[in-house]
Amino acid sequence: MRVGCPKEIKNHEYRVGLTPSAAREYVAQGHDVLIETGAGAGIDAGDADYEAAGAAIAADAAEIFRSADMVVKVKEPQPNEWAQLREGQILYTYLHLAPDPRQTEGLLASGVTAIAYETVTDGRGGLPLLAPMSEVAGRLSIQAAARALEKAHGGRGVLLGGVPGVAPGKIVIIGGGVVGKEAAKMAIGLGADVTILDRSIPRLRDLDDLFAGRVHTRYSTKTAIEEEVFAADAVIGAVLIPGASAPKLVTREMLAGMKKGAVLVDVAIDQGGCFETSHATTHAEPTFEVDGIVHYCVANMPGAVPITSAHALNNATLPFGLSLANRKLDALLADPHLMHGLNVHRGQITNRAVAESLGRDM
Ligand code: NAD
Repeated sequence: MRVGCPKEIKNHEYRVGLTPSAAREYVAQGHDVLIETGAGAGIDAGDADYEAAGAAIAADAAEIFRSADMVVKVKEPQPNEWAQLREGQILYTYLHLAPDPRQTEGLLASGVTAIAYETVTDGRGGLPLLAPMSEVAGRLSIQAAARALEKAHGGRGVLLGGVPGVAPGKIVIIGGGVVGKEAAKMAIGLGADVTILDRSIPRLRDLDDLFAGRVHTRYSTKTAIEEEVFAADAVIGAVLIPGASAPKLVTREMLAGMKKGAVLVDVAIDQGGCFETSHATTHAEPTFEVDGIVHYCVANMPGAVPITSAHALNNATLPFGLSLANRKLDALLADPHLMHGLNVHRGQITNRAVAESLGRDM
């Protein structure tokens, strides 16, 4: 099959659907790989790196959309991209169709077979193509908190690790899933005092085992959240209720009880945010202040570290991508987890949750 990868055109998107090492794996399995010139620039991969991996370079995206049997991307197609997709072609990328009726119409009209990274599942009930980005965001959240806590960035002026003779900073993580666990690892590594709250007792039990006394765990109630947030130097919002908007766990009223210059990092902002006072920000202007509390609410945190993020994403997408390249649509029939990724096929919505949230038929 011919596998094509255009350069991402969404604003400030530096990741790429195929890294040179992923391209090499497709080539090794007998596929033609076509990469748009400059597609890897954001991850420091030049055309020569792709050519060394056995890929061919296309002068523009149009050549890829015209000739590829499967288009591999990172972000959802933009209007001029979905206009170039066609029946019989596979699109393999993040789609996030539920809040995006315009894109859905575009994909339906094109006739393309679209597989969304975010709805592919695994045998443990997880979302394996979303998890690597949660890992990146979780780890990054502590860097963001540490930076925002510096006085010059509006914070309290606390060093998370403290120093001998001075207590460390207190990090409170609400939500102990993928983001929360990775945030905890980084915070512990820096020497911070770490508390994780979750509503799942099995989850708290696992975290307690994993961190063996190096974190405090608390069942997440209003009282526990209030007590912890009031004592925190930085709070990481890392909750997820699948398919729903994030619950507002820290209200505006609660900000008055927090330490002045404390930091709220709302990783869950892509689901609407779990702090009442959050609104989405960008890497160009990541923070704002409400009632003396610094808020960091960047909706695409992994975009800050595209080299790490693109490689992590490719590691996760490659096995499914190779399966699609080798077996075409039979790959979906052979693997129910990959089948869950199928969102649109020949003018039909094929994912129940997407159809329901758009008020459409399957
Ligand atoms: P996850 O499902 O692995 O973990 C979520 C956890 O939240 C679960 O353990 C769940 O029990 C817990 N939870 C639910 N309600 C709670 C409550 N009231 N109190 C305490 N805990 C509660 O999800 P994840 O992969 O860790 O993702 C967390 C959030 O981060 C999601 O909204 C995800 O979309 C977001 N995210 C954002 C970015 C970004 O760039 N901003 C990047 C990646 C992920």
